[in-house]
Amino acid sequence: MGNLKNKVLLIYTGGTIGMVQDADGSLQPFAMERIYDALPLLHRTDYMIDSCQLDKIIDSSNMTPEFWVDIAEIIERRYDDYDGFVVLHGTDTMAYTASALSFMFKNLTKPIVLTGSQLPLGMLRSDGRENIICALEIASCKQVLIPEVTIFFESHLYRGNRSTKVSAENFDAFSSFNYPSLAKAGIKISYKEHLFMPMPTGPLTVRKLFDRRIAVLKLFPGITPEVVRSIVGTPGLQGIVIETFGSGNAPTEHWFIDALQEAISRGIILFNVTQCKAGAVQMRQYQASCDMDRIGVIGGHDITLEAAVTKMMYMLGNYHDDLDKVRNRLGVSIRGEISTNDLDEDI
Ligand code: ASP
Repeated sequence: MGNLKNKVLLIYTGGTIGMVQDADGSLQPFAMERIYDALPLLHRTDYMIDSCQLDKIIDSSNMTPEFWVDIAEIIERRYDDYDGFVVLHGTDTMAYTASALSFMFKNLTKPIVLTGSQLPLGMLRSDGRENIICALEIASCKQVLIPEVTIFFESHLYRGNRSTKVSAENFDAFSSFNYPSLAKAGIKISYKEHLFMPMPTGPLTVRKLFDRRIAVLKLFPGITPEVVRSIVGTPGLQGIVIETFGSGNAPTEHWFIDALQEAISRGIILFNVTQCKAGAVQMRQYQASCDMDRIGVIGGHDITLEAAVTKMMYMLGNYHDDLDKVRNRLGVSIRGEISTNDLDEDI
């Protein structure tokens, strides 16, 4: 029994990592069956790898909720057959996909590790090789089980819904400013188990609905009433993530608060997220957030923009008939995306 090899499913979705040099020197997406040609070292692993790919391989700038559902369904269908899953993904929107998957999978007991690279696998100096090999090792690990959706990049394993792409150039392209990394790969991979999500006991549930009718309103000094009103007045809008300054501050001018209040009165849910990479929204710390708190804007605490956007789509998609639930749960942790002591386990 103990000698049975662990099994990992490697899912290729696109992005830079999946490129190899063809005979004429041009970079082409490689067929997943050629993974062993690109990485012959994989023959020597003590786990088994199966691979598959999305019907359509994409640059992750074309990512949509439909693709999130495709990825989730591959994992859901083959959940019992594998010990872990590795998703090869373009770096540009990897943090959004990791966040979305984390919300979709309730009671996840197996690791889902996303990784990619800054240089194509087919290039000599590619960072893809180490990223894939470490991600596979983490997803297949027999001793340590991480019941989370994570991102592995350049020697760090991050909680997916805490991660952000921070560099279009460096190999360490991701960071998690408000939560420590879950593991670090050096000579060996050292895991920080006390930081993992608790192992759930309930049955796995995969919820697949996303409501795209949301917007992000990024504030800047000098933003005009016309711009704010045009976003807020978008027909059919259900929710807005407002990217505010510092600890959640915004202009106190009447036209601004009136525009937000008018949106709330039309049932639009407003979610306050800071533009700062680290730290948290603290409504009422300054007078510049008191009015937003008074009219019912929800504080996002230390959530990332990526997690805020995907959580809002997820909550509106799956709980549209209970908007109070959406309002009550946006600002608290449901998958470890916010630093609050309590984890709401009923979503
Ligand atoms: N544009 C690419 C993508 O996100 C970049 C990358 O893979 O790193 O698909």
